[in-house]
Amino acid sequence: MTNRTGTVYLIGAGPGDPGLLTIKAKECIEAADVVVYDYLASPFLLDYAKKDAQIIYVGKKGGDHTLTQDKINLLLVDKAKEGLDVARLKGGDPFVFGRGGEEAQILLSDDVPYEVVPGVTSAIAAPAYAGIPVTHRDHTSFVSFITGHENPQKKDSSMQWDVYAKSDATLVFLMGVKNLGNIVKNLMDHGKPSDTPIALVRWGTTAKQQTITGTLETIVDRVKKAKLKSPAIIVIGHVVSLREELSWFDKRPLFGKRIVITRARVQASSLISKLSKLGAYCIEIPTIQIAPPKDIGPLKESIKNINAFDWLIFTSVNGVKFFFDTLFDMGKDVRVLGHLKFACIGPVTKERLQDFGIISDILPKTYRAESVIDAFSSVKIKNKKVLIPRAKKARTILPEELIKMGADVDEVTAYETQLSTNGKDELIDLLENKGIDAVTFTSSSTVSNFMSLLENKDAKKLLNNVITASIGPITSDTARSLDIKPDIEADEYTIQGLVDSLLAHYESKQ
Ligand code: SAH
Repeated sequence: MTNRTGTVYLIGAGPGDPGLLTIKAKECIEAADVVVYDYLASPFLLDYAKKDAQIIYVGKKGGDHTLTQDKINLLLVDKAKEGLDVARLKGGDPFVFGRGGEEAQILLSDDVPYEVVPGVTSAIAAPAYAGIPVTHRDHTSFVSFITGHENPQKKDSSMQWDVYAKSDATLVFLMGVKNLGNIVKNLMDHGKPSDTPIALVRWGTTAKQQTITGTLETIVDRVKKAKLKSPAIIVIGHVVSLREELSWFDKRPLFGKRIVITRARVQASSLISKLSKLGAYCIEIPTIQIAPPKDIGPLKESIKNINAFDWLIFTSVNGVKFFFDTLFDMGKDVRVLGHLKFACIGPVTKERLQDFGIISDILPKTYRAESVIDAFSSVKIKNKKVLIPRAKKARTILPEELIKMGADVDEVTAYETQLSTNGKDELIDLLENKGIDAVTFTSSSTVSNFMSLLENKDAKKLLNNVITASIGPITSDTARSLDIKPDIEADEYTIQGLVDSLLAHYESKQ
């Protein structure tokens, strides 16, 4: 136990897009012992936290508080007094309707040191992502941020409706969705023209962003029809009309498409980042989890005898990872591999191997027999001893072809893939409520595991109107054998190929 009091960092976590976090905020999260976050802060940011950091969710969704503000204050003080540095993440900017000022006052009165890390506020960012600049020389010379939370019927209201109504300011209301009717009525009652443009931007800067535009006269109806709920920014003023010309975020080709990613979580990031950049909203339902083999003995044995081998061939990124994990666990390093030649199936596996300082000698681009034969045709593989660390239950084309060429092949299990059922309820719920536009299958096991998650449900019915996209012919065969007919099959059997084919599919529908 130390006598030191920790520092509390009141951090603006930005409006939602994880890329809008400041560098300083990221550094604070990385260094913190405790991370306290709420509803509006993107959970992706928690990935920056130390492995052993305490992560505490304090909620706050409308009135539904997981912890009351008093309890949050107490928590920050207690943790700091334990000598821990605390990153207190708040949506947007901590001092813009974020009660950051109150938290700072409490910390001050309890002698807890604090720092403030400003963030990108949703009041500016959500309109910006909807193509609405909050100021523009031709339209307005100032902008007001106003709480929409206060009940405008309240007698001692601090709302200056006559001022808002008469000025040409851009008015930005936060926390105002529930009060939209009152806000609009008050502005018109105080003389604001009923044709003043207005927009609501929900979940701004995220893949779920939704924008409704209209005039003071029409907006309430439109919002009701769209069933738009909180959290949203309300922007009122002539700048809103610029959206027609300046919108960009929702023009990206996959914007609004809800796409399920079925790969194991550790492998999903490149697919997610490629699809997200095109505007898609990715829903991670990993159907696979990757684990070390139950019996690591055979892999260890082959590493012990590595001198007897001439070639080491990797068929997947996981094969590389688990091979080297085991090698290092055994107290060895890459020098024991100096005499070997290397081959990798696929460019990503090759890159992973390069992370360990080893350049693959040859590279069959795909698993297909011709590709393997082609790649090894200029190599003397006859009578050579080949080690292939791979998944349990892996496909056999590669060893078969190498054996035909006269090689002596040892296959060893380096990892196992298991069914992951964590996302089952979420998946079924989304499918039943038409919350999914497309599902991606990146291997045969993602298809078969996906189907086992649906258990005794009527898969055909649930997948009606859902686009199914397969990475290649083998995955598609598995799908067909389970009675799913893939709508899309990638032309090039890689993650990029899958993304390109999905994109081509949606572009052809426009
Ligand atoms: N400190 C925050 C605001 C907190 S008040 C900031 O600077 O952004 C909560 C309100 O912020 C919500 O009711 C909503 O009006 C707005 N808000 C926060 N994030 C938003 C987002 N991604 N899109 C639209 N509005 C958002």
